[in-house]
Amino acid sequence: MMEKQRKKINSIDADIIKLLAERRDLSKEIINLKNEKLSSIRDKPREKELLTKIVGLGKKSGLDSYFVTKVFNEIIGDSVKLQNQIVLDKDNPENLSSAKVVAIQGIEGSYSYLAAQKYFGDSNSKIIFKYKDSFEEVVLSVENKEADYAMLPIENTTSGSINDVYDALIGSQLSIVGEEIFHVKHCLVALKEIALNKIERVYTQAQAARQCNKFLAGINNASVEYFIDTARSIKKIKEENNNYYAAIASEEAAKLFNVVILRENIANQPGNFTRFLICAREPITVDLRIPAKTSVILATSHTAGSLVNALSIFRDFGVNMTKLQSRPIMGNPWEEMFYLDFIGNSSEKNILQLLDELGKIVRFIRVLGCYPSKEVEKTTVEVFPDKSKDAAQEQGLQQIERKESKPKTNVSYKLASREYKNEDTIVTAGNVTIGGDKFIIIAGPCSVESKEQIMSCAREAKENYAQILRGGCFKPRTSPYSFQGLGDEGLQFLKDAGNTYELPVITEVLTIDQVSRVAEHADILQIGARNMQNFALLSEAGKSLRPILLKRGMMSSLDELLNAAEYILARGNRQVILCERGIRTFETATRNTLDLSAIPFIKERSHLPIIVDPSHAIGQRDKITPLAKAAKAVGADGIMVEIHPDPDNALSDGPQSLYFNQFKNLMSELAKM
Ligand code: PEP
Ligand code: MN
Repeated sequence: MMEKQRKKINSIDADIIKLLAERRDLSKEIINLKNEKLSSIRDKPREKELLTKIVGLGKKSGLDSYFVTKVFNEIIGDSVKLQNQIVLDKDNPENLSSAKVVAIQGIEGSYSYLAAQKYFGDSNSKIIFKYKDSFEEVVLSVENKEADYAMLPIENTTSGSINDVYDALIGSQLSIVGEEIFHVKHCLVALKEIALNKIERVYTQAQAARQCNKFLAGINNASVEYFIDTARSIKKIKEENNNYYAAIASEEAAKLFNVVILRENIANQPGNFTRFLICAREPITVDLRIPAKTSVILATSHTAGSLVNALSIFRDFGVNMTKLQSRPIMGNPWEEMFYLDFIGNSSEKNILQLLDELGKIVRFIRVLGCYPSKEVEKTTVEVFPDKSKDAAQEQGLQQIERKESKPKTNVSYKLASREYKNEDTIVTAGNVTIGGDKFIIIAGPCSVESKEQIMSCAREAKENYAQILRGGCFKPRTSPYSFQGLGDEGLQFLKDAGNTYELPVITEVLTIDQVSRVAEHADILQIGARNMQNFALLSEAGKSLRPILLKRGMMSSLDELLNAAEYILARGNRQVILCERGIRTFETATRNTLDLSAIPFIKERSHLPIIVDPSHAIGQRDKITPLAKAAKAVGADGIMVEIHPDPDNALSDGPQSLYFNQFKNLMSELAKM
């Protein structure tokens, strides 16, 4: 029976591959045409138009827009990559050599090995590896022409900069010709299955150990010993043939050496990426149409303000720096050398001028190289245009009015005020910005109840273009007998759902000790209405590097709200979003009374973004859409709404949770505004 369907699927898959190859050929033809006209490689408006059309087509056939966008972003990304490579190879014919000799620190199966395969794998050329014991030897090997390329890990998102590589680079004359970003997923491996508490020794590499130190702390019976690379630590347990020894390495290395994986993903954070630099003897030319980065090293004079002067040149030229690292200068105690990456092409006029200016004020400067950037920007499909021109004009007027009627009152907060900072604060969470021109939607259930429930809410949120996923894990409930939330387990479900649908997540913290723990998983921390004046909690939130959504207490004045925000700001955290969620009045017909006047008032007094939570304000799902529209009309920066796949059986706030079709309707109503 199933045979027939399977056959059909096989033939569809074959067709998909054939069509992808045809599409690829067409984009090759296009780049050759583009080459002649020197037009830009990426055509963002066309990509956006294409995606919007395809998403529409997909919808008609019952396909998730998120799924379609993801697939086509891959396809478009592949075209862009191919086109970039064609242009790059044209300018740098040495790229086309059939075999590439690459020096790495480590052996087969090490992360440098895997990253080199990823980087050079695209060009279909054979890679011949030269295995070295140190980064200096890797650099030397290229300088001595034993190898053509050096693959050097320069920084990791968990353990930070790899200083030895900076030092090896600073002392060499090699040029950086490329970068690669590699997702490092560490595993604990051994010769045979063994309980973690039985392990006597763990072999690993120093950086890997730092990236997994939380996991390692949990297997405290074992001593830790370091090797040059992770693959060599597996080799060592094989040589010693001891079942009580383990090693930390990649899944690929475990396969290569035929050992058992005891635990996967043991790094302190799942977002454990290493950036590698690819260096060669000669610099390359990067076509101006390819997004590029440039790296320089410089030394400033030992006088007050010299670094600021150097950095302000980047600001003056509108150039975005992506990395600044200082290293001591050997032989000159307490003097520093700076290593700097920025977005730009060193053969662009603007960058040439910038480098000229920089050269005038520094003690030393050398361009290490200009190379194609691996951070590919994705095209997005959005329903909400930026706040319209009219609205912008309107806001401009409001700003003028604001200036004219500046309140002269003596306020007890400073950092939250417009007097302190006139420009609107823009808060960022993942790749979402809150404040400024955007109107953002946070959606999700009141409480995370199960993996399936939060996954289906995330899918619905994404499908309808909400940008952030909410879900309570630690719930502040009026009755101690009501559902208190799934706690840490719920947090993991929320995070997984956010990852699956690429949505930043927000969840509430109730206690001081939850702040740093929850911050490891959530992109935004919420302080609920009941805790708005929990000053110890506010101070702790002020130490966090995560944005804080601060909800107005149900019996708090706006002055008290801004003072509560001040507690967070004063501790150093300047990423605060305010939220109006209804206050208690004599009216009992609705759960609370939504105070819409709060929005223009706060906008006048404070630079902080403010959103509206109509769900908790009114408490009745059929009246949420008009309140959400009103929030947009009075200038709020977004809304937060509760949705649920089965509101009638929700474990909290069911009556105010939107059915999915109501949410869809709400979103299309808002999009019309
Ligand atoms: C919530 O958003 O989950 C919540 C409990 O809201 P509030 O603190 O506004 O009652
Ligand atoms: Mn709720």
